[in-house]
Formats: sequence, structure tokens, C-alpha cells
Amino acid sequence: MCGIVGYFGKRKASEILVDGLRRMEYRGYDSAGVACLHDGVIGLVKNPGKIKGLREKVDGSDLDSMQHAHLGIGHTRWATHGAPNEVNAHPHLDASGHFVMVHNGIIENYKEIKAGLSQHGIECVSETDSEVLVQLIAYCYKDNLEKAVSEALKKVKGTYGIVVLTDKEPGKLVAARCGSPIVIGLGAEETLIASDASAIIPHTRDAMYLEDYDMAVITADGVKMFDLQHAPISREVTEMDWDIDAAEKGEYAHFMLKEMFEQPSAIRNAIRGRLDFEMGTAILSGLDFSPRDTAQINRVLVVGCGTSMNAGMVGEYAIEEMAGIPAEVEQAAEFRYRNPIVTPLDLVVAISQSGETADTLAAVREAKHKGAVVAGLCNVVGSTIARETGRGIYLHAGPEIGVASTKAFTCQVAVLLMMALKLARGRRMPRHQGEELCRWIERLPELVEKVLAQNEAIKAVAEKYADKQNAFFIGRGYLYPVALEGALKLKEISYIHAEGYHAAELKHGPIALLEETTPIVALLNNIPGKEKTMGNAEECKARKAPVIAVVTEGDEATAEGFDDMIVVPDCPPCIAPIPTVVALQLLSYHIAAARGCEIDQPRNLAKSVTVE
Ligand code: GLU
Repeated sequence: MCGIVGYFGKRKASEILVDGLRRMEYRGYDSAGVACLHDGVIGLVKNPGKIKGLREKVDGSDLDSMQHAHLGIGHTRWATHGAPNEVNAHPHLDASGHFVMVHNGIIENYKEIKAGLSQHGIECVSETDSEVLVQLIAYCYKDNLEKAVSEALKKVKGTYGIVVLTDKEPGKLVAARCGSPIVIGLGAEETLIASDASAIIPHTRDAMYLEDYDMAVITADGVKMFDLQHAPISREVTEMDWDIDAAEKGEYAHFMLKEMFEQPSAIRNAIRGRLDFEMGTAILSGLDFSPRDTAQINRVLVVGCGTSMNAGMVGEYAIEEMAGIPAEVEQAAEFRYRNPIVTPLDLVVAISQSGETADTLAAVREAKHKGAVVAGLCNVVGSTIARETGRGIYLHAGPEIGVASTKAFTCQVAVLLMMALKLARGRRMPRHQGEELCRWIERLPELVEKVLAQNEAIKAVAEKYADKQNAFFIGRGYLYPVALEGALKLKEISYIHAEGYHAAELKHGPIALLEETTPIVALLNNIPGKEKTMGNAEECKARKAPVIAVVTEGDEATAEGFDDMIVVPDCPPCIAPIPTVVALQLLSYHIAAARGCEIDQPRNLAKSVTVE
């Protein structure tokens, strides 16, 4: 789920490992640790809490004095089994103390394995599912680490990205993956292993991505790859496309703030070269269907989780409205487990910023299995979903470090609008309408800039509501998914309990909760349905709930009688979600900042959710 890093080279391993973990901090974690090998001795330091604490512990420890330890492993843990304390933190040692391992993912049959090990007198000391794996590897070991690893992995059910080392074979690291990403960076006289490009990029850009059931053996002779049956395999070396400056905060107080302000350029990158004004359509190489194939698409199913699912809902509305193709958005985990009806004439669009989201990946595999055409909408280049769908449409938003997604959401919506445009033009949309939509999409960065220019005004509104415990966001039509996303942002980073509701739905239950201390953010943009939402906002007001009215520029009168106002630029309904959500991102950000929250790494959250 979180971070893995490994080092084999000539430099001081502990420093490179701790620095690599720091670069992956954004993924969210609760404890961390590193282990190095020197002169046949394994040194291990673990710490519940932040990397800063780990660094302090490493300084002055045995590990620090291991100046010549040139190989080691490190981990940031996002606890799935067992509390985030020192014992449960990785790396985990086996009972003999000769093997040490880091693991991302979940070993689903860990109880069974634990019981089996216990019969052989091997007892685990932590509550984690992970520890059983290192114990099992040690149990399977005869004289060769990779053989023991593959032997053990054959007995395991679940997901893993692992790196393991042993003092019995001091010049070797073994890495393996199933469902949890592992990338190997090939530097000059050194090899890095990580779950995330950000830990590798300061050292090298040449990388190999492990596929599921691949194993990599790293020694002084280089990297050798095998499958679990020990047959040698080869994986292509690719160049990692990741801008190192983009992973630094610069002058901004938080990555989230920086990323919100990057949205105009991120959207520009997402749409660059993809609008064809001449034909009034979009060019998306991942959707290079023939006109006949486009005409035959029976249904579009959009799958995702969290923010990606909210973006998907805007896509659903746009595809139905513009292309006239039935479209549905579905929570990826539900899609996977409820045996959905999918046919070869269906187009499944899987949305995941990281491209590693476990539930979305499982949905992709299920859809492919049922014969559907599957396209992946991802931000991280080379990610598993992008590779497995083969029809990747990249967001080009640049690295998103803040755990709460901002620029990925707006770029996802921009790409979905282009997708809807392309499908629509292949069906019933006339060219002039397509051209007009191209113009609006091209204007998105400018519309977002207008909202960002109101940062101070939005901050002033935010500060008035920072002490509240509950909030509702209401909208309808294209703004319903925006209400959902606005509420999600607020709860993620400020820990205020917030709910997004269809404006009409509020009176079917939640209205019972309204009181003077429950603010309502009402999306009253000047689009069809506005009057109805105004009526719903009045109903809230009548129950003494304060209303923050989001209105269209030039239509400020709509906010009269309500408590506060946020103005967004005038644009067509399908475009409105983007500038409107930016206003809500800023509102959530300033509320969280006023409450002193840890905005970039909210408690309990992880950036890349690789467990189901
Ligand atoms: N399931 C493991 C644990 O709880 C690994 C979690 C992770 O991926 O960070 O320790």
C-alpha cells in the first residue's frame, strides 16, 4: 500500500533508504523502518510515526555507523493488520534473525500460514499479516534465497510487493510482486528498488517495472529476472517520465495548495494536442476506434473509487447527454464482486490517478475477462492499469503528491469531456457543436485561473466555518458529482463530517440533521435546475442552517438572502464542474488550514490504495 525502497550499490545505504522513504511520504503511512546488511550483520531500526523520527533514530544507531553498508531495505507502512506500533512496523525479521523483509499488500491466508509455522515451533512476534511471509521464506530456505522466496510465494494468497535479504547470502536482494507495484531503477554501479518512481528518480531514470509473479534478483552482477518457476524472463528498460521539481513544494505551504494552483497548467497539458477544431472533435489515441466501432458501442461503464468515481460521474452525464450512449458509473469494488452484465460491445473506462488502485485494477481484469473493450484513465505513466488496459489515456497532470486529489480530478473531468466529445462526434453531435465544445474545453485553464484569483475571498468565507462539526454540499445535474467531491475533500483534510447530497434528496432524510451549526454549501450556478436548487437551499435556511451560495458571475442576485457567496465564472453546464470544484477545493483547504490539520497527509489516508 505504502512505500518500499531497496538499495544495492556503493554508497551508504541507510542514507539513501531514509531519503527514498521521505520522498514517498506523500503516499500516507503510519510507521517506517530500515534494515541494512554489513559484515554479515543485519542492522534494523523501526519507528512508529513520521520519517523525521526514524531519521533521528537512525542517526547515532548501529545502522548509522555502518558506513560501508551498501545494501538495505526500507518501508513506510499503512497498517492493515495490527496497530501502527514499532513491533508491527517493517522491515520484519524472521525468528532466526537471518532474514529480513519489507512487504506492501495483504497476505490473505496469513492465519493459516501462521498456524502451520507454529506447528514447526516458529512463532510470530507481530500482529501483521506480513511477518508470516518472512518466517515462511526462512523456513523454505536451503541454500538459495530466490528459491526460498518463490517457494514461499507459491503458498501465499493475496497481494504483495516485497524485497528481502539474508545474511546467509550477503550480496543479494530479492524483490517480487503480485498486485503491488515494484520498479527497479538501474543507476551507474547501483540498483534501486521502490514501489514508487519518486524514490528512484533522484538517482536514475532507467527503470524496469515488474509484472505480477515476476521476481528480480539483484547482485553485483546486475539484475536478473525470473518467474516463480525460475524460468528467466526479461523486462524492457524504460525511461521514467517524472519531473523531480514537481515533487517539491517550493514556496507553497502545502503540496495541496501548490497542486490546486497548478491546475491551469495541468489542464493545459491534459488537453494539449487533443482538440481538433477543424473536425470539432477530440483526438485520444487510447480511443482510436474506427467510426464503425464507435457507432457500435452499446454502453459505457465507468469504474473508479473515491475522487475518481466522482469524476467518472461527470463523464457519465456528459457521455449520455452528448453521445447518446447509455453510461453508468460504478464503484470499482462493487463492479468486481457483483458479477455485472458486461458484453463485448461495452466500453469500460477505468479511472485511477495512481493507476494502481487495487479495486479498479480488479474491475479492469473482470471487464477484460468478460470481453469488454477497456480503457484506462491514469496519471502515473507506466502504472499497472495503464499497462494492463493497453488503451491508456494519460492525464499528464504531473505528479500529485497531496493525498487529497485536486489536479487529478480536474484533469480527469477534462479528459472525460474530451472522451464524450469524441464519442458524440462519432454518433450524433454536429460539427459546429463539437467545435463550440472544443472552444470551451480550451478555455478551462482560464476559467480555473479566475477561481484561483479569488483565493483570499474564499479563505475569508472558510474561516467563518472552520469550527463546525458537520456540513452538507448540495447540487443537481452536472453539479451533483461536484457536491459529492466537495464533501469528500472537506472530510478528507479537515475531518469535518461532510455529506454530498443531491439537492432534492436532502428532504428525504438528512434535513432532520440541520441546525444553526450545520452549514450548507449550495451549488447555485446558473444552469438548468438552478431555481429548484435555490428552493432546496431556502428549505435549509428555513431550518436556520447557514447557506454558502456558489453562484455564477453576473448572477450574484441568486445569493441574496443567503449567508455567504462564492462566485464562479459563467460557462455551459458540462464545463461548470471544473471551475466549481476548484472553489470547493480552496474552501476545504482553508477550513483545514484554519483547523491546523496535516493537509498533505491526512490521518488514516493513503495516496495509492493498493489493497481492496
Ligand atoms: N499488510 C501489511 C501490514 O499491515 C503491509 C501494509 C502496507 O502495505 O504498508 O503491515
